[in-house]
Amino acid sequence: MASYDLTLKRSEPVADGTLALFFERPAGFDYKAGQCARLALVDPPETDDEGNGRILSLASAPAEGELMVATRLRDTAFKRVLGGLRPGAALTLKGPYGDFVLPADGQVPVVFITGGIGITPVRSMVLQSLSEGHNGAITLLYANRRPKDAAFLDELRQACAGRSNYRVVPIMTQDAGWQGETGHLDVAMLRRHVMNLTAPLYYLDGPPGLVSAMRSVLSEAGVAEDRVRTEEFAGY
Ligand SMILES: Cc1cc2nc3c(=O)[nH]c(=O)nc-3n(C[C@H](O)[C@H](O)[C@H](O)COP(=O)(O)OP(=O)(O)OC[C@H]3O[C@@H](n4cnc5c(N)ncnc54)[C@H](O)[C@@H]3O)c2cc1C
Repeated sequence: MASYDLTLKRSEPVADGTLALFFERPAGFDYKAGQCARLALVDPPETDDEGNGRILSLASAPAEGELMVATRLRDTAFKRVLGGLRPGAALTLKGPYGDFVLPADGQVPVVFITGGIGITPVRSMVLQSLSEGHNGAITLLYANRRPKDAAFLDELRQACAGRSNYRVVPIMTQDAGWQGETGHLDVAMLRRHVMNLTAPLYYLDGPPGLVSAMRSVLSEAGVAEDRVRTEEFAGY
């Protein structure tokens, strides 16, 4: 797999404790919306057992000019260094990897169910499908504890506003004042937002515990396993 040199253009917070990093797309680097890559630090001042790199989803859409990744900043050597990088810092990128990508048929209804940092590949796929003119229904069920934890939520709502086949459904699990969906996703919540439960392709991703809980809900709802695609963020 090819390795590419990256130069950090800028970084900015996109939710509580969550940083997005932006890069020029290296010449020759092509990827599909939803894929991931291994991002590595170059000669970092500290390291840990996991090494100098991590697999991160490409949160940018290929239709966007620049590359972007986003991560929850935790107290690990990799993230301490990543969080302190300044524009101009050098990194490397290996990839792209993965087949958690949009269906080739743009008429197929798609339901994304994700939570927290699991939004990264979903942001890429939703924005790419908007730019390509996907005609099938796209529904995004996006769970977070509170609105301030929900990276890219406002951006995705704005991007989908006025598109009758796109729906963004934020779910807050720890915000008593939230006016929309609250609590954990269950079959009843799914039925409120997905008309024919067995028709769409479902995309589940994020921390392994979340993916397995969502898979159980879909099974309870009678969704066949071959309608479900998953990507687990091992390490959370
Ligand atoms: C296909 C794929 C796509 C991914 N996409 C993304 C993405 O877009 N964004 C993203 O952020 N991550 C993504 N990940 C996960 C990413 O690769 C890292 O594993 C993750 O960010 C954790 O890295 P870390 O440095 O915080 O912890 P690591 O050092 O990798 O953690 C190692 C272990 O320590 C535990 N640990 C470390 N710190 C803490 C803490 N503070 N609290 C509790 N447990 C802790 C972890 O549970 C883990 O088991 C993806 C993973 C995969 C496989």
